[in-house]
Amino acid sequence: MMIIIMSPTATMENLKKVQDKILKEGLRYHLSKGELRTIVGVIGDKKIISGLQMKAFDGVEKTVQITEKYKLVSREFKPEDTIVNVDGVLVGGGHLGIMAGPCAVESMEQLLESAEAVKARGANFLRGGAFKPRTSPYDFQGLATEGLEMLKAAGAQTGLKVVTEIVDMNALDLISQYADVLQIGARNMQNFELLKAVGRSQKPVLLKRGMSATISEWLNAAEYILSEGNYNVILCERGIRTYETFTRNTLDLSAVAAVKELSHLPIIVDPSHGTGRWQMVRPMARAAIATGADGLMIEVHPHPEIALSDGDQSLTPENFSLVMEDVQNMMQVMGRD
Ligand code: PEP
Ligand code: MN
Repeated sequence: MMIIIMSPTATMENLKKVQDKILKEGLRYHLSKGELRTIVGVIGDKKIISGLQMKAFDGVEKTVQITEKYKLVSREFKPEDTIVNVDGVLVGGGHLGIMAGPCAVESMEQLLESAEAVKARGANFLRGGAFKPRTSPYDFQGLATEGLEMLKAAGAQTGLKVVTEIVDMNALDLISQYADVLQIGARNMQNFELLKAVGRSQKPVLLKRGMSATISEWLNAAEYILSEGNYNVILCERGIRTYETFTRNTLDLSAVAAVKELSHLPIIVDPSHGTGRWQMVRPMARAAIATGADGLMIEVHPHPEIALSDGDQSLTPENFSLVMEDVQNMMQVMGRD
């Protein structure tokens, strides 16, 4: 369905031309005549409706496409940007969340070295997986509760907020004791029971895009969380699977612009998983900020060559510095603070 909102100054003739066009396309309409303006609800073939260029008609103030099932996450429902407050650190509405750290927590030493390095360079969140959803069962699976304890300690020591992944709804209470933000990974984006469980919590959630998820499916996944009462959701574009093999994924920066149009929720970008190549993280991070992202998630490891996971896409602290310089410069160029 599409809603055409006529301007208060639209004439009967303007309206007639709109009605004629709709009928000519084989569509139907409902009129709602308000005191100030007339609203035309167009129904019929979805494809034809989405191709309608009604904004070009005189007297049309704006058009709104209502094809989606999600409501609470939509801009129509809430026009102003949501700012997620993570225990005093804000993300969205102009506030950047810079989440950096190793792919996986490997040891206290490795984690603390990473945390101090990213904190010194301007990150405000420490990322690190304690439960790793690995493609192969023979790969390092994470340090579990021990890893959570290390994250909490490193967060406390550096003043960084902790982001870590939850893969099992039964671990919600446990992880909530250690984490400031619950990460839902790409592989679990449509784990609806997990989405509902974090929705019943009030902990902020970082919802990564599924590797084959459309933007609509992703926003519907977020709707699951909001519909349970948790409005503290940050989206994260992390690349989607395409035919390209040079990169691990294809980073879809257009999703940032799309989400900004469709939703009020903050969206950050993960150029590490998005490309799988550390060399590409810096340019893609810069581009993400240029596109209007509300932050970044970046894998940083003190010694990427010996990382237990995702070493190829992890930055050294020195390279992370360069990213942060770019972020600052880009923010300045764009007049963003
Ligand atoms: C991660 O952030 O460590 C991770 C596993 O990412 P994704 O779910 O995007 O693959
Ligand atoms: Mn990783």
